[in-house]
Amino acid sequence: MSSELRVGLLGHKVAYSKSSEIFDAIFAREKIKGSFDTFDFPSEDLPQQLAGILKSGIKGLSVTIPHKRSVIEHMKELSPVARAIQAVNSVAVRNGEAYGFNTDCDGFALPLRKHSEVLKNSSALILGAGGAARAAIYSLHTDYEVKSFTVIGRTIATLQELKAMFREELENAKILLETLETLGYGDTDWSIMVNATPLGGWNHPEESPLPRSFPWKAVRVYYDLNYNDGNHLCQRAREAGIASIDGSMMLVGQAIASFEIWTGIKVEFEPIYEAVFGQLVEGK
Ligand code: NAP
Repeated sequence: MSSELRVGLLGHKVAYSKSSEIFDAIFAREKIKGSFDTFDFPSEDLPQQLAGILKSGIKGLSVTIPHKRSVIEHMKELSPVARAIQAVNSVAVRNGEAYGFNTDCDGFALPLRKHSEVLKNSSALILGAGGAARAAIYSLHTDYEVKSFTVIGRTIATLQELKAMFREELENAKILLETLETLGYGDTDWSIMVNATPLGGWNHPEESPLPRSFPWKAVRVYYDLNYNDGNHLCQRAREAGIASIDGSMMLVGQAIASFEIWTGIKVEFEPIYEAVFGQLVEGK
């Protein structure tokens, strides 16, 4: 039997992914003989693909679009956070069985440490209502005491489902649902705006979830979960003079948290970040 540590990524249209670079950097840093495989397939192939992958001796899987939700029914158990936000981005494989976790919350929280005072008891504007939006809301409320969330989505049913989920899980959080058409800009301001849509990211670099007339000054911190170089929304935020964070720290943070779940090994953040993204400049 091989002593190589095998991990991988489940996703679709993820040619842009930096996950293999991150895990290669972890293997090098920890002097581990390891390999990383990307399993790229559409949603309808998940049951059959996953069954084969789980039998292959793999130790852990990162999960990304579009499988974070649909993978849940294949898990033997879910961690409390994965259950609360109904999204799995990390699978530990033990004796051929899959255990679902969510480490997006850990990764999301990392770059916000220096903004904790701004966030406490504040309101946040969340663009998107998928798995990453739910991780962002969960972390902002439980780690940073954000009290109120305006969530913008394009599908009413997804928005309503998000609200119902958090009514049970985050009793003290206030969740307002809006579409871009119904969102008023009046006197409201937000401590943070989170882009949890793929718009502006690798596969949609020219697009935006915001109208051109969006008043950027109504926001103190802009956090785009995408991590493509030259992201035009991060640039726009910087031009407006507000703090701008991209998804690169989150990506590395969630991978390191997953690696610890899979292997029990704690890996230092900064050397891995710098091996993949270059020098760490928080809030760049
Ligand atoms: P998801 O579950 O598919 O949710 C995506 C959300 O964006 C949904 O609310 C979806 O609306 C909305 N959306 C998609 N296409 C849109 C469009 N053309 N116009 C308007 N809204 C649109 O995906 P996710 O896992 O939450 O990921 C969201 C983004 O965050 C992705 O780009 C992903 O790469 C990024 N992300 C980054 C990290 C990181 O570590 N940096 C971690 C997680 C996610 P509907 O509900 O109507 O489909």
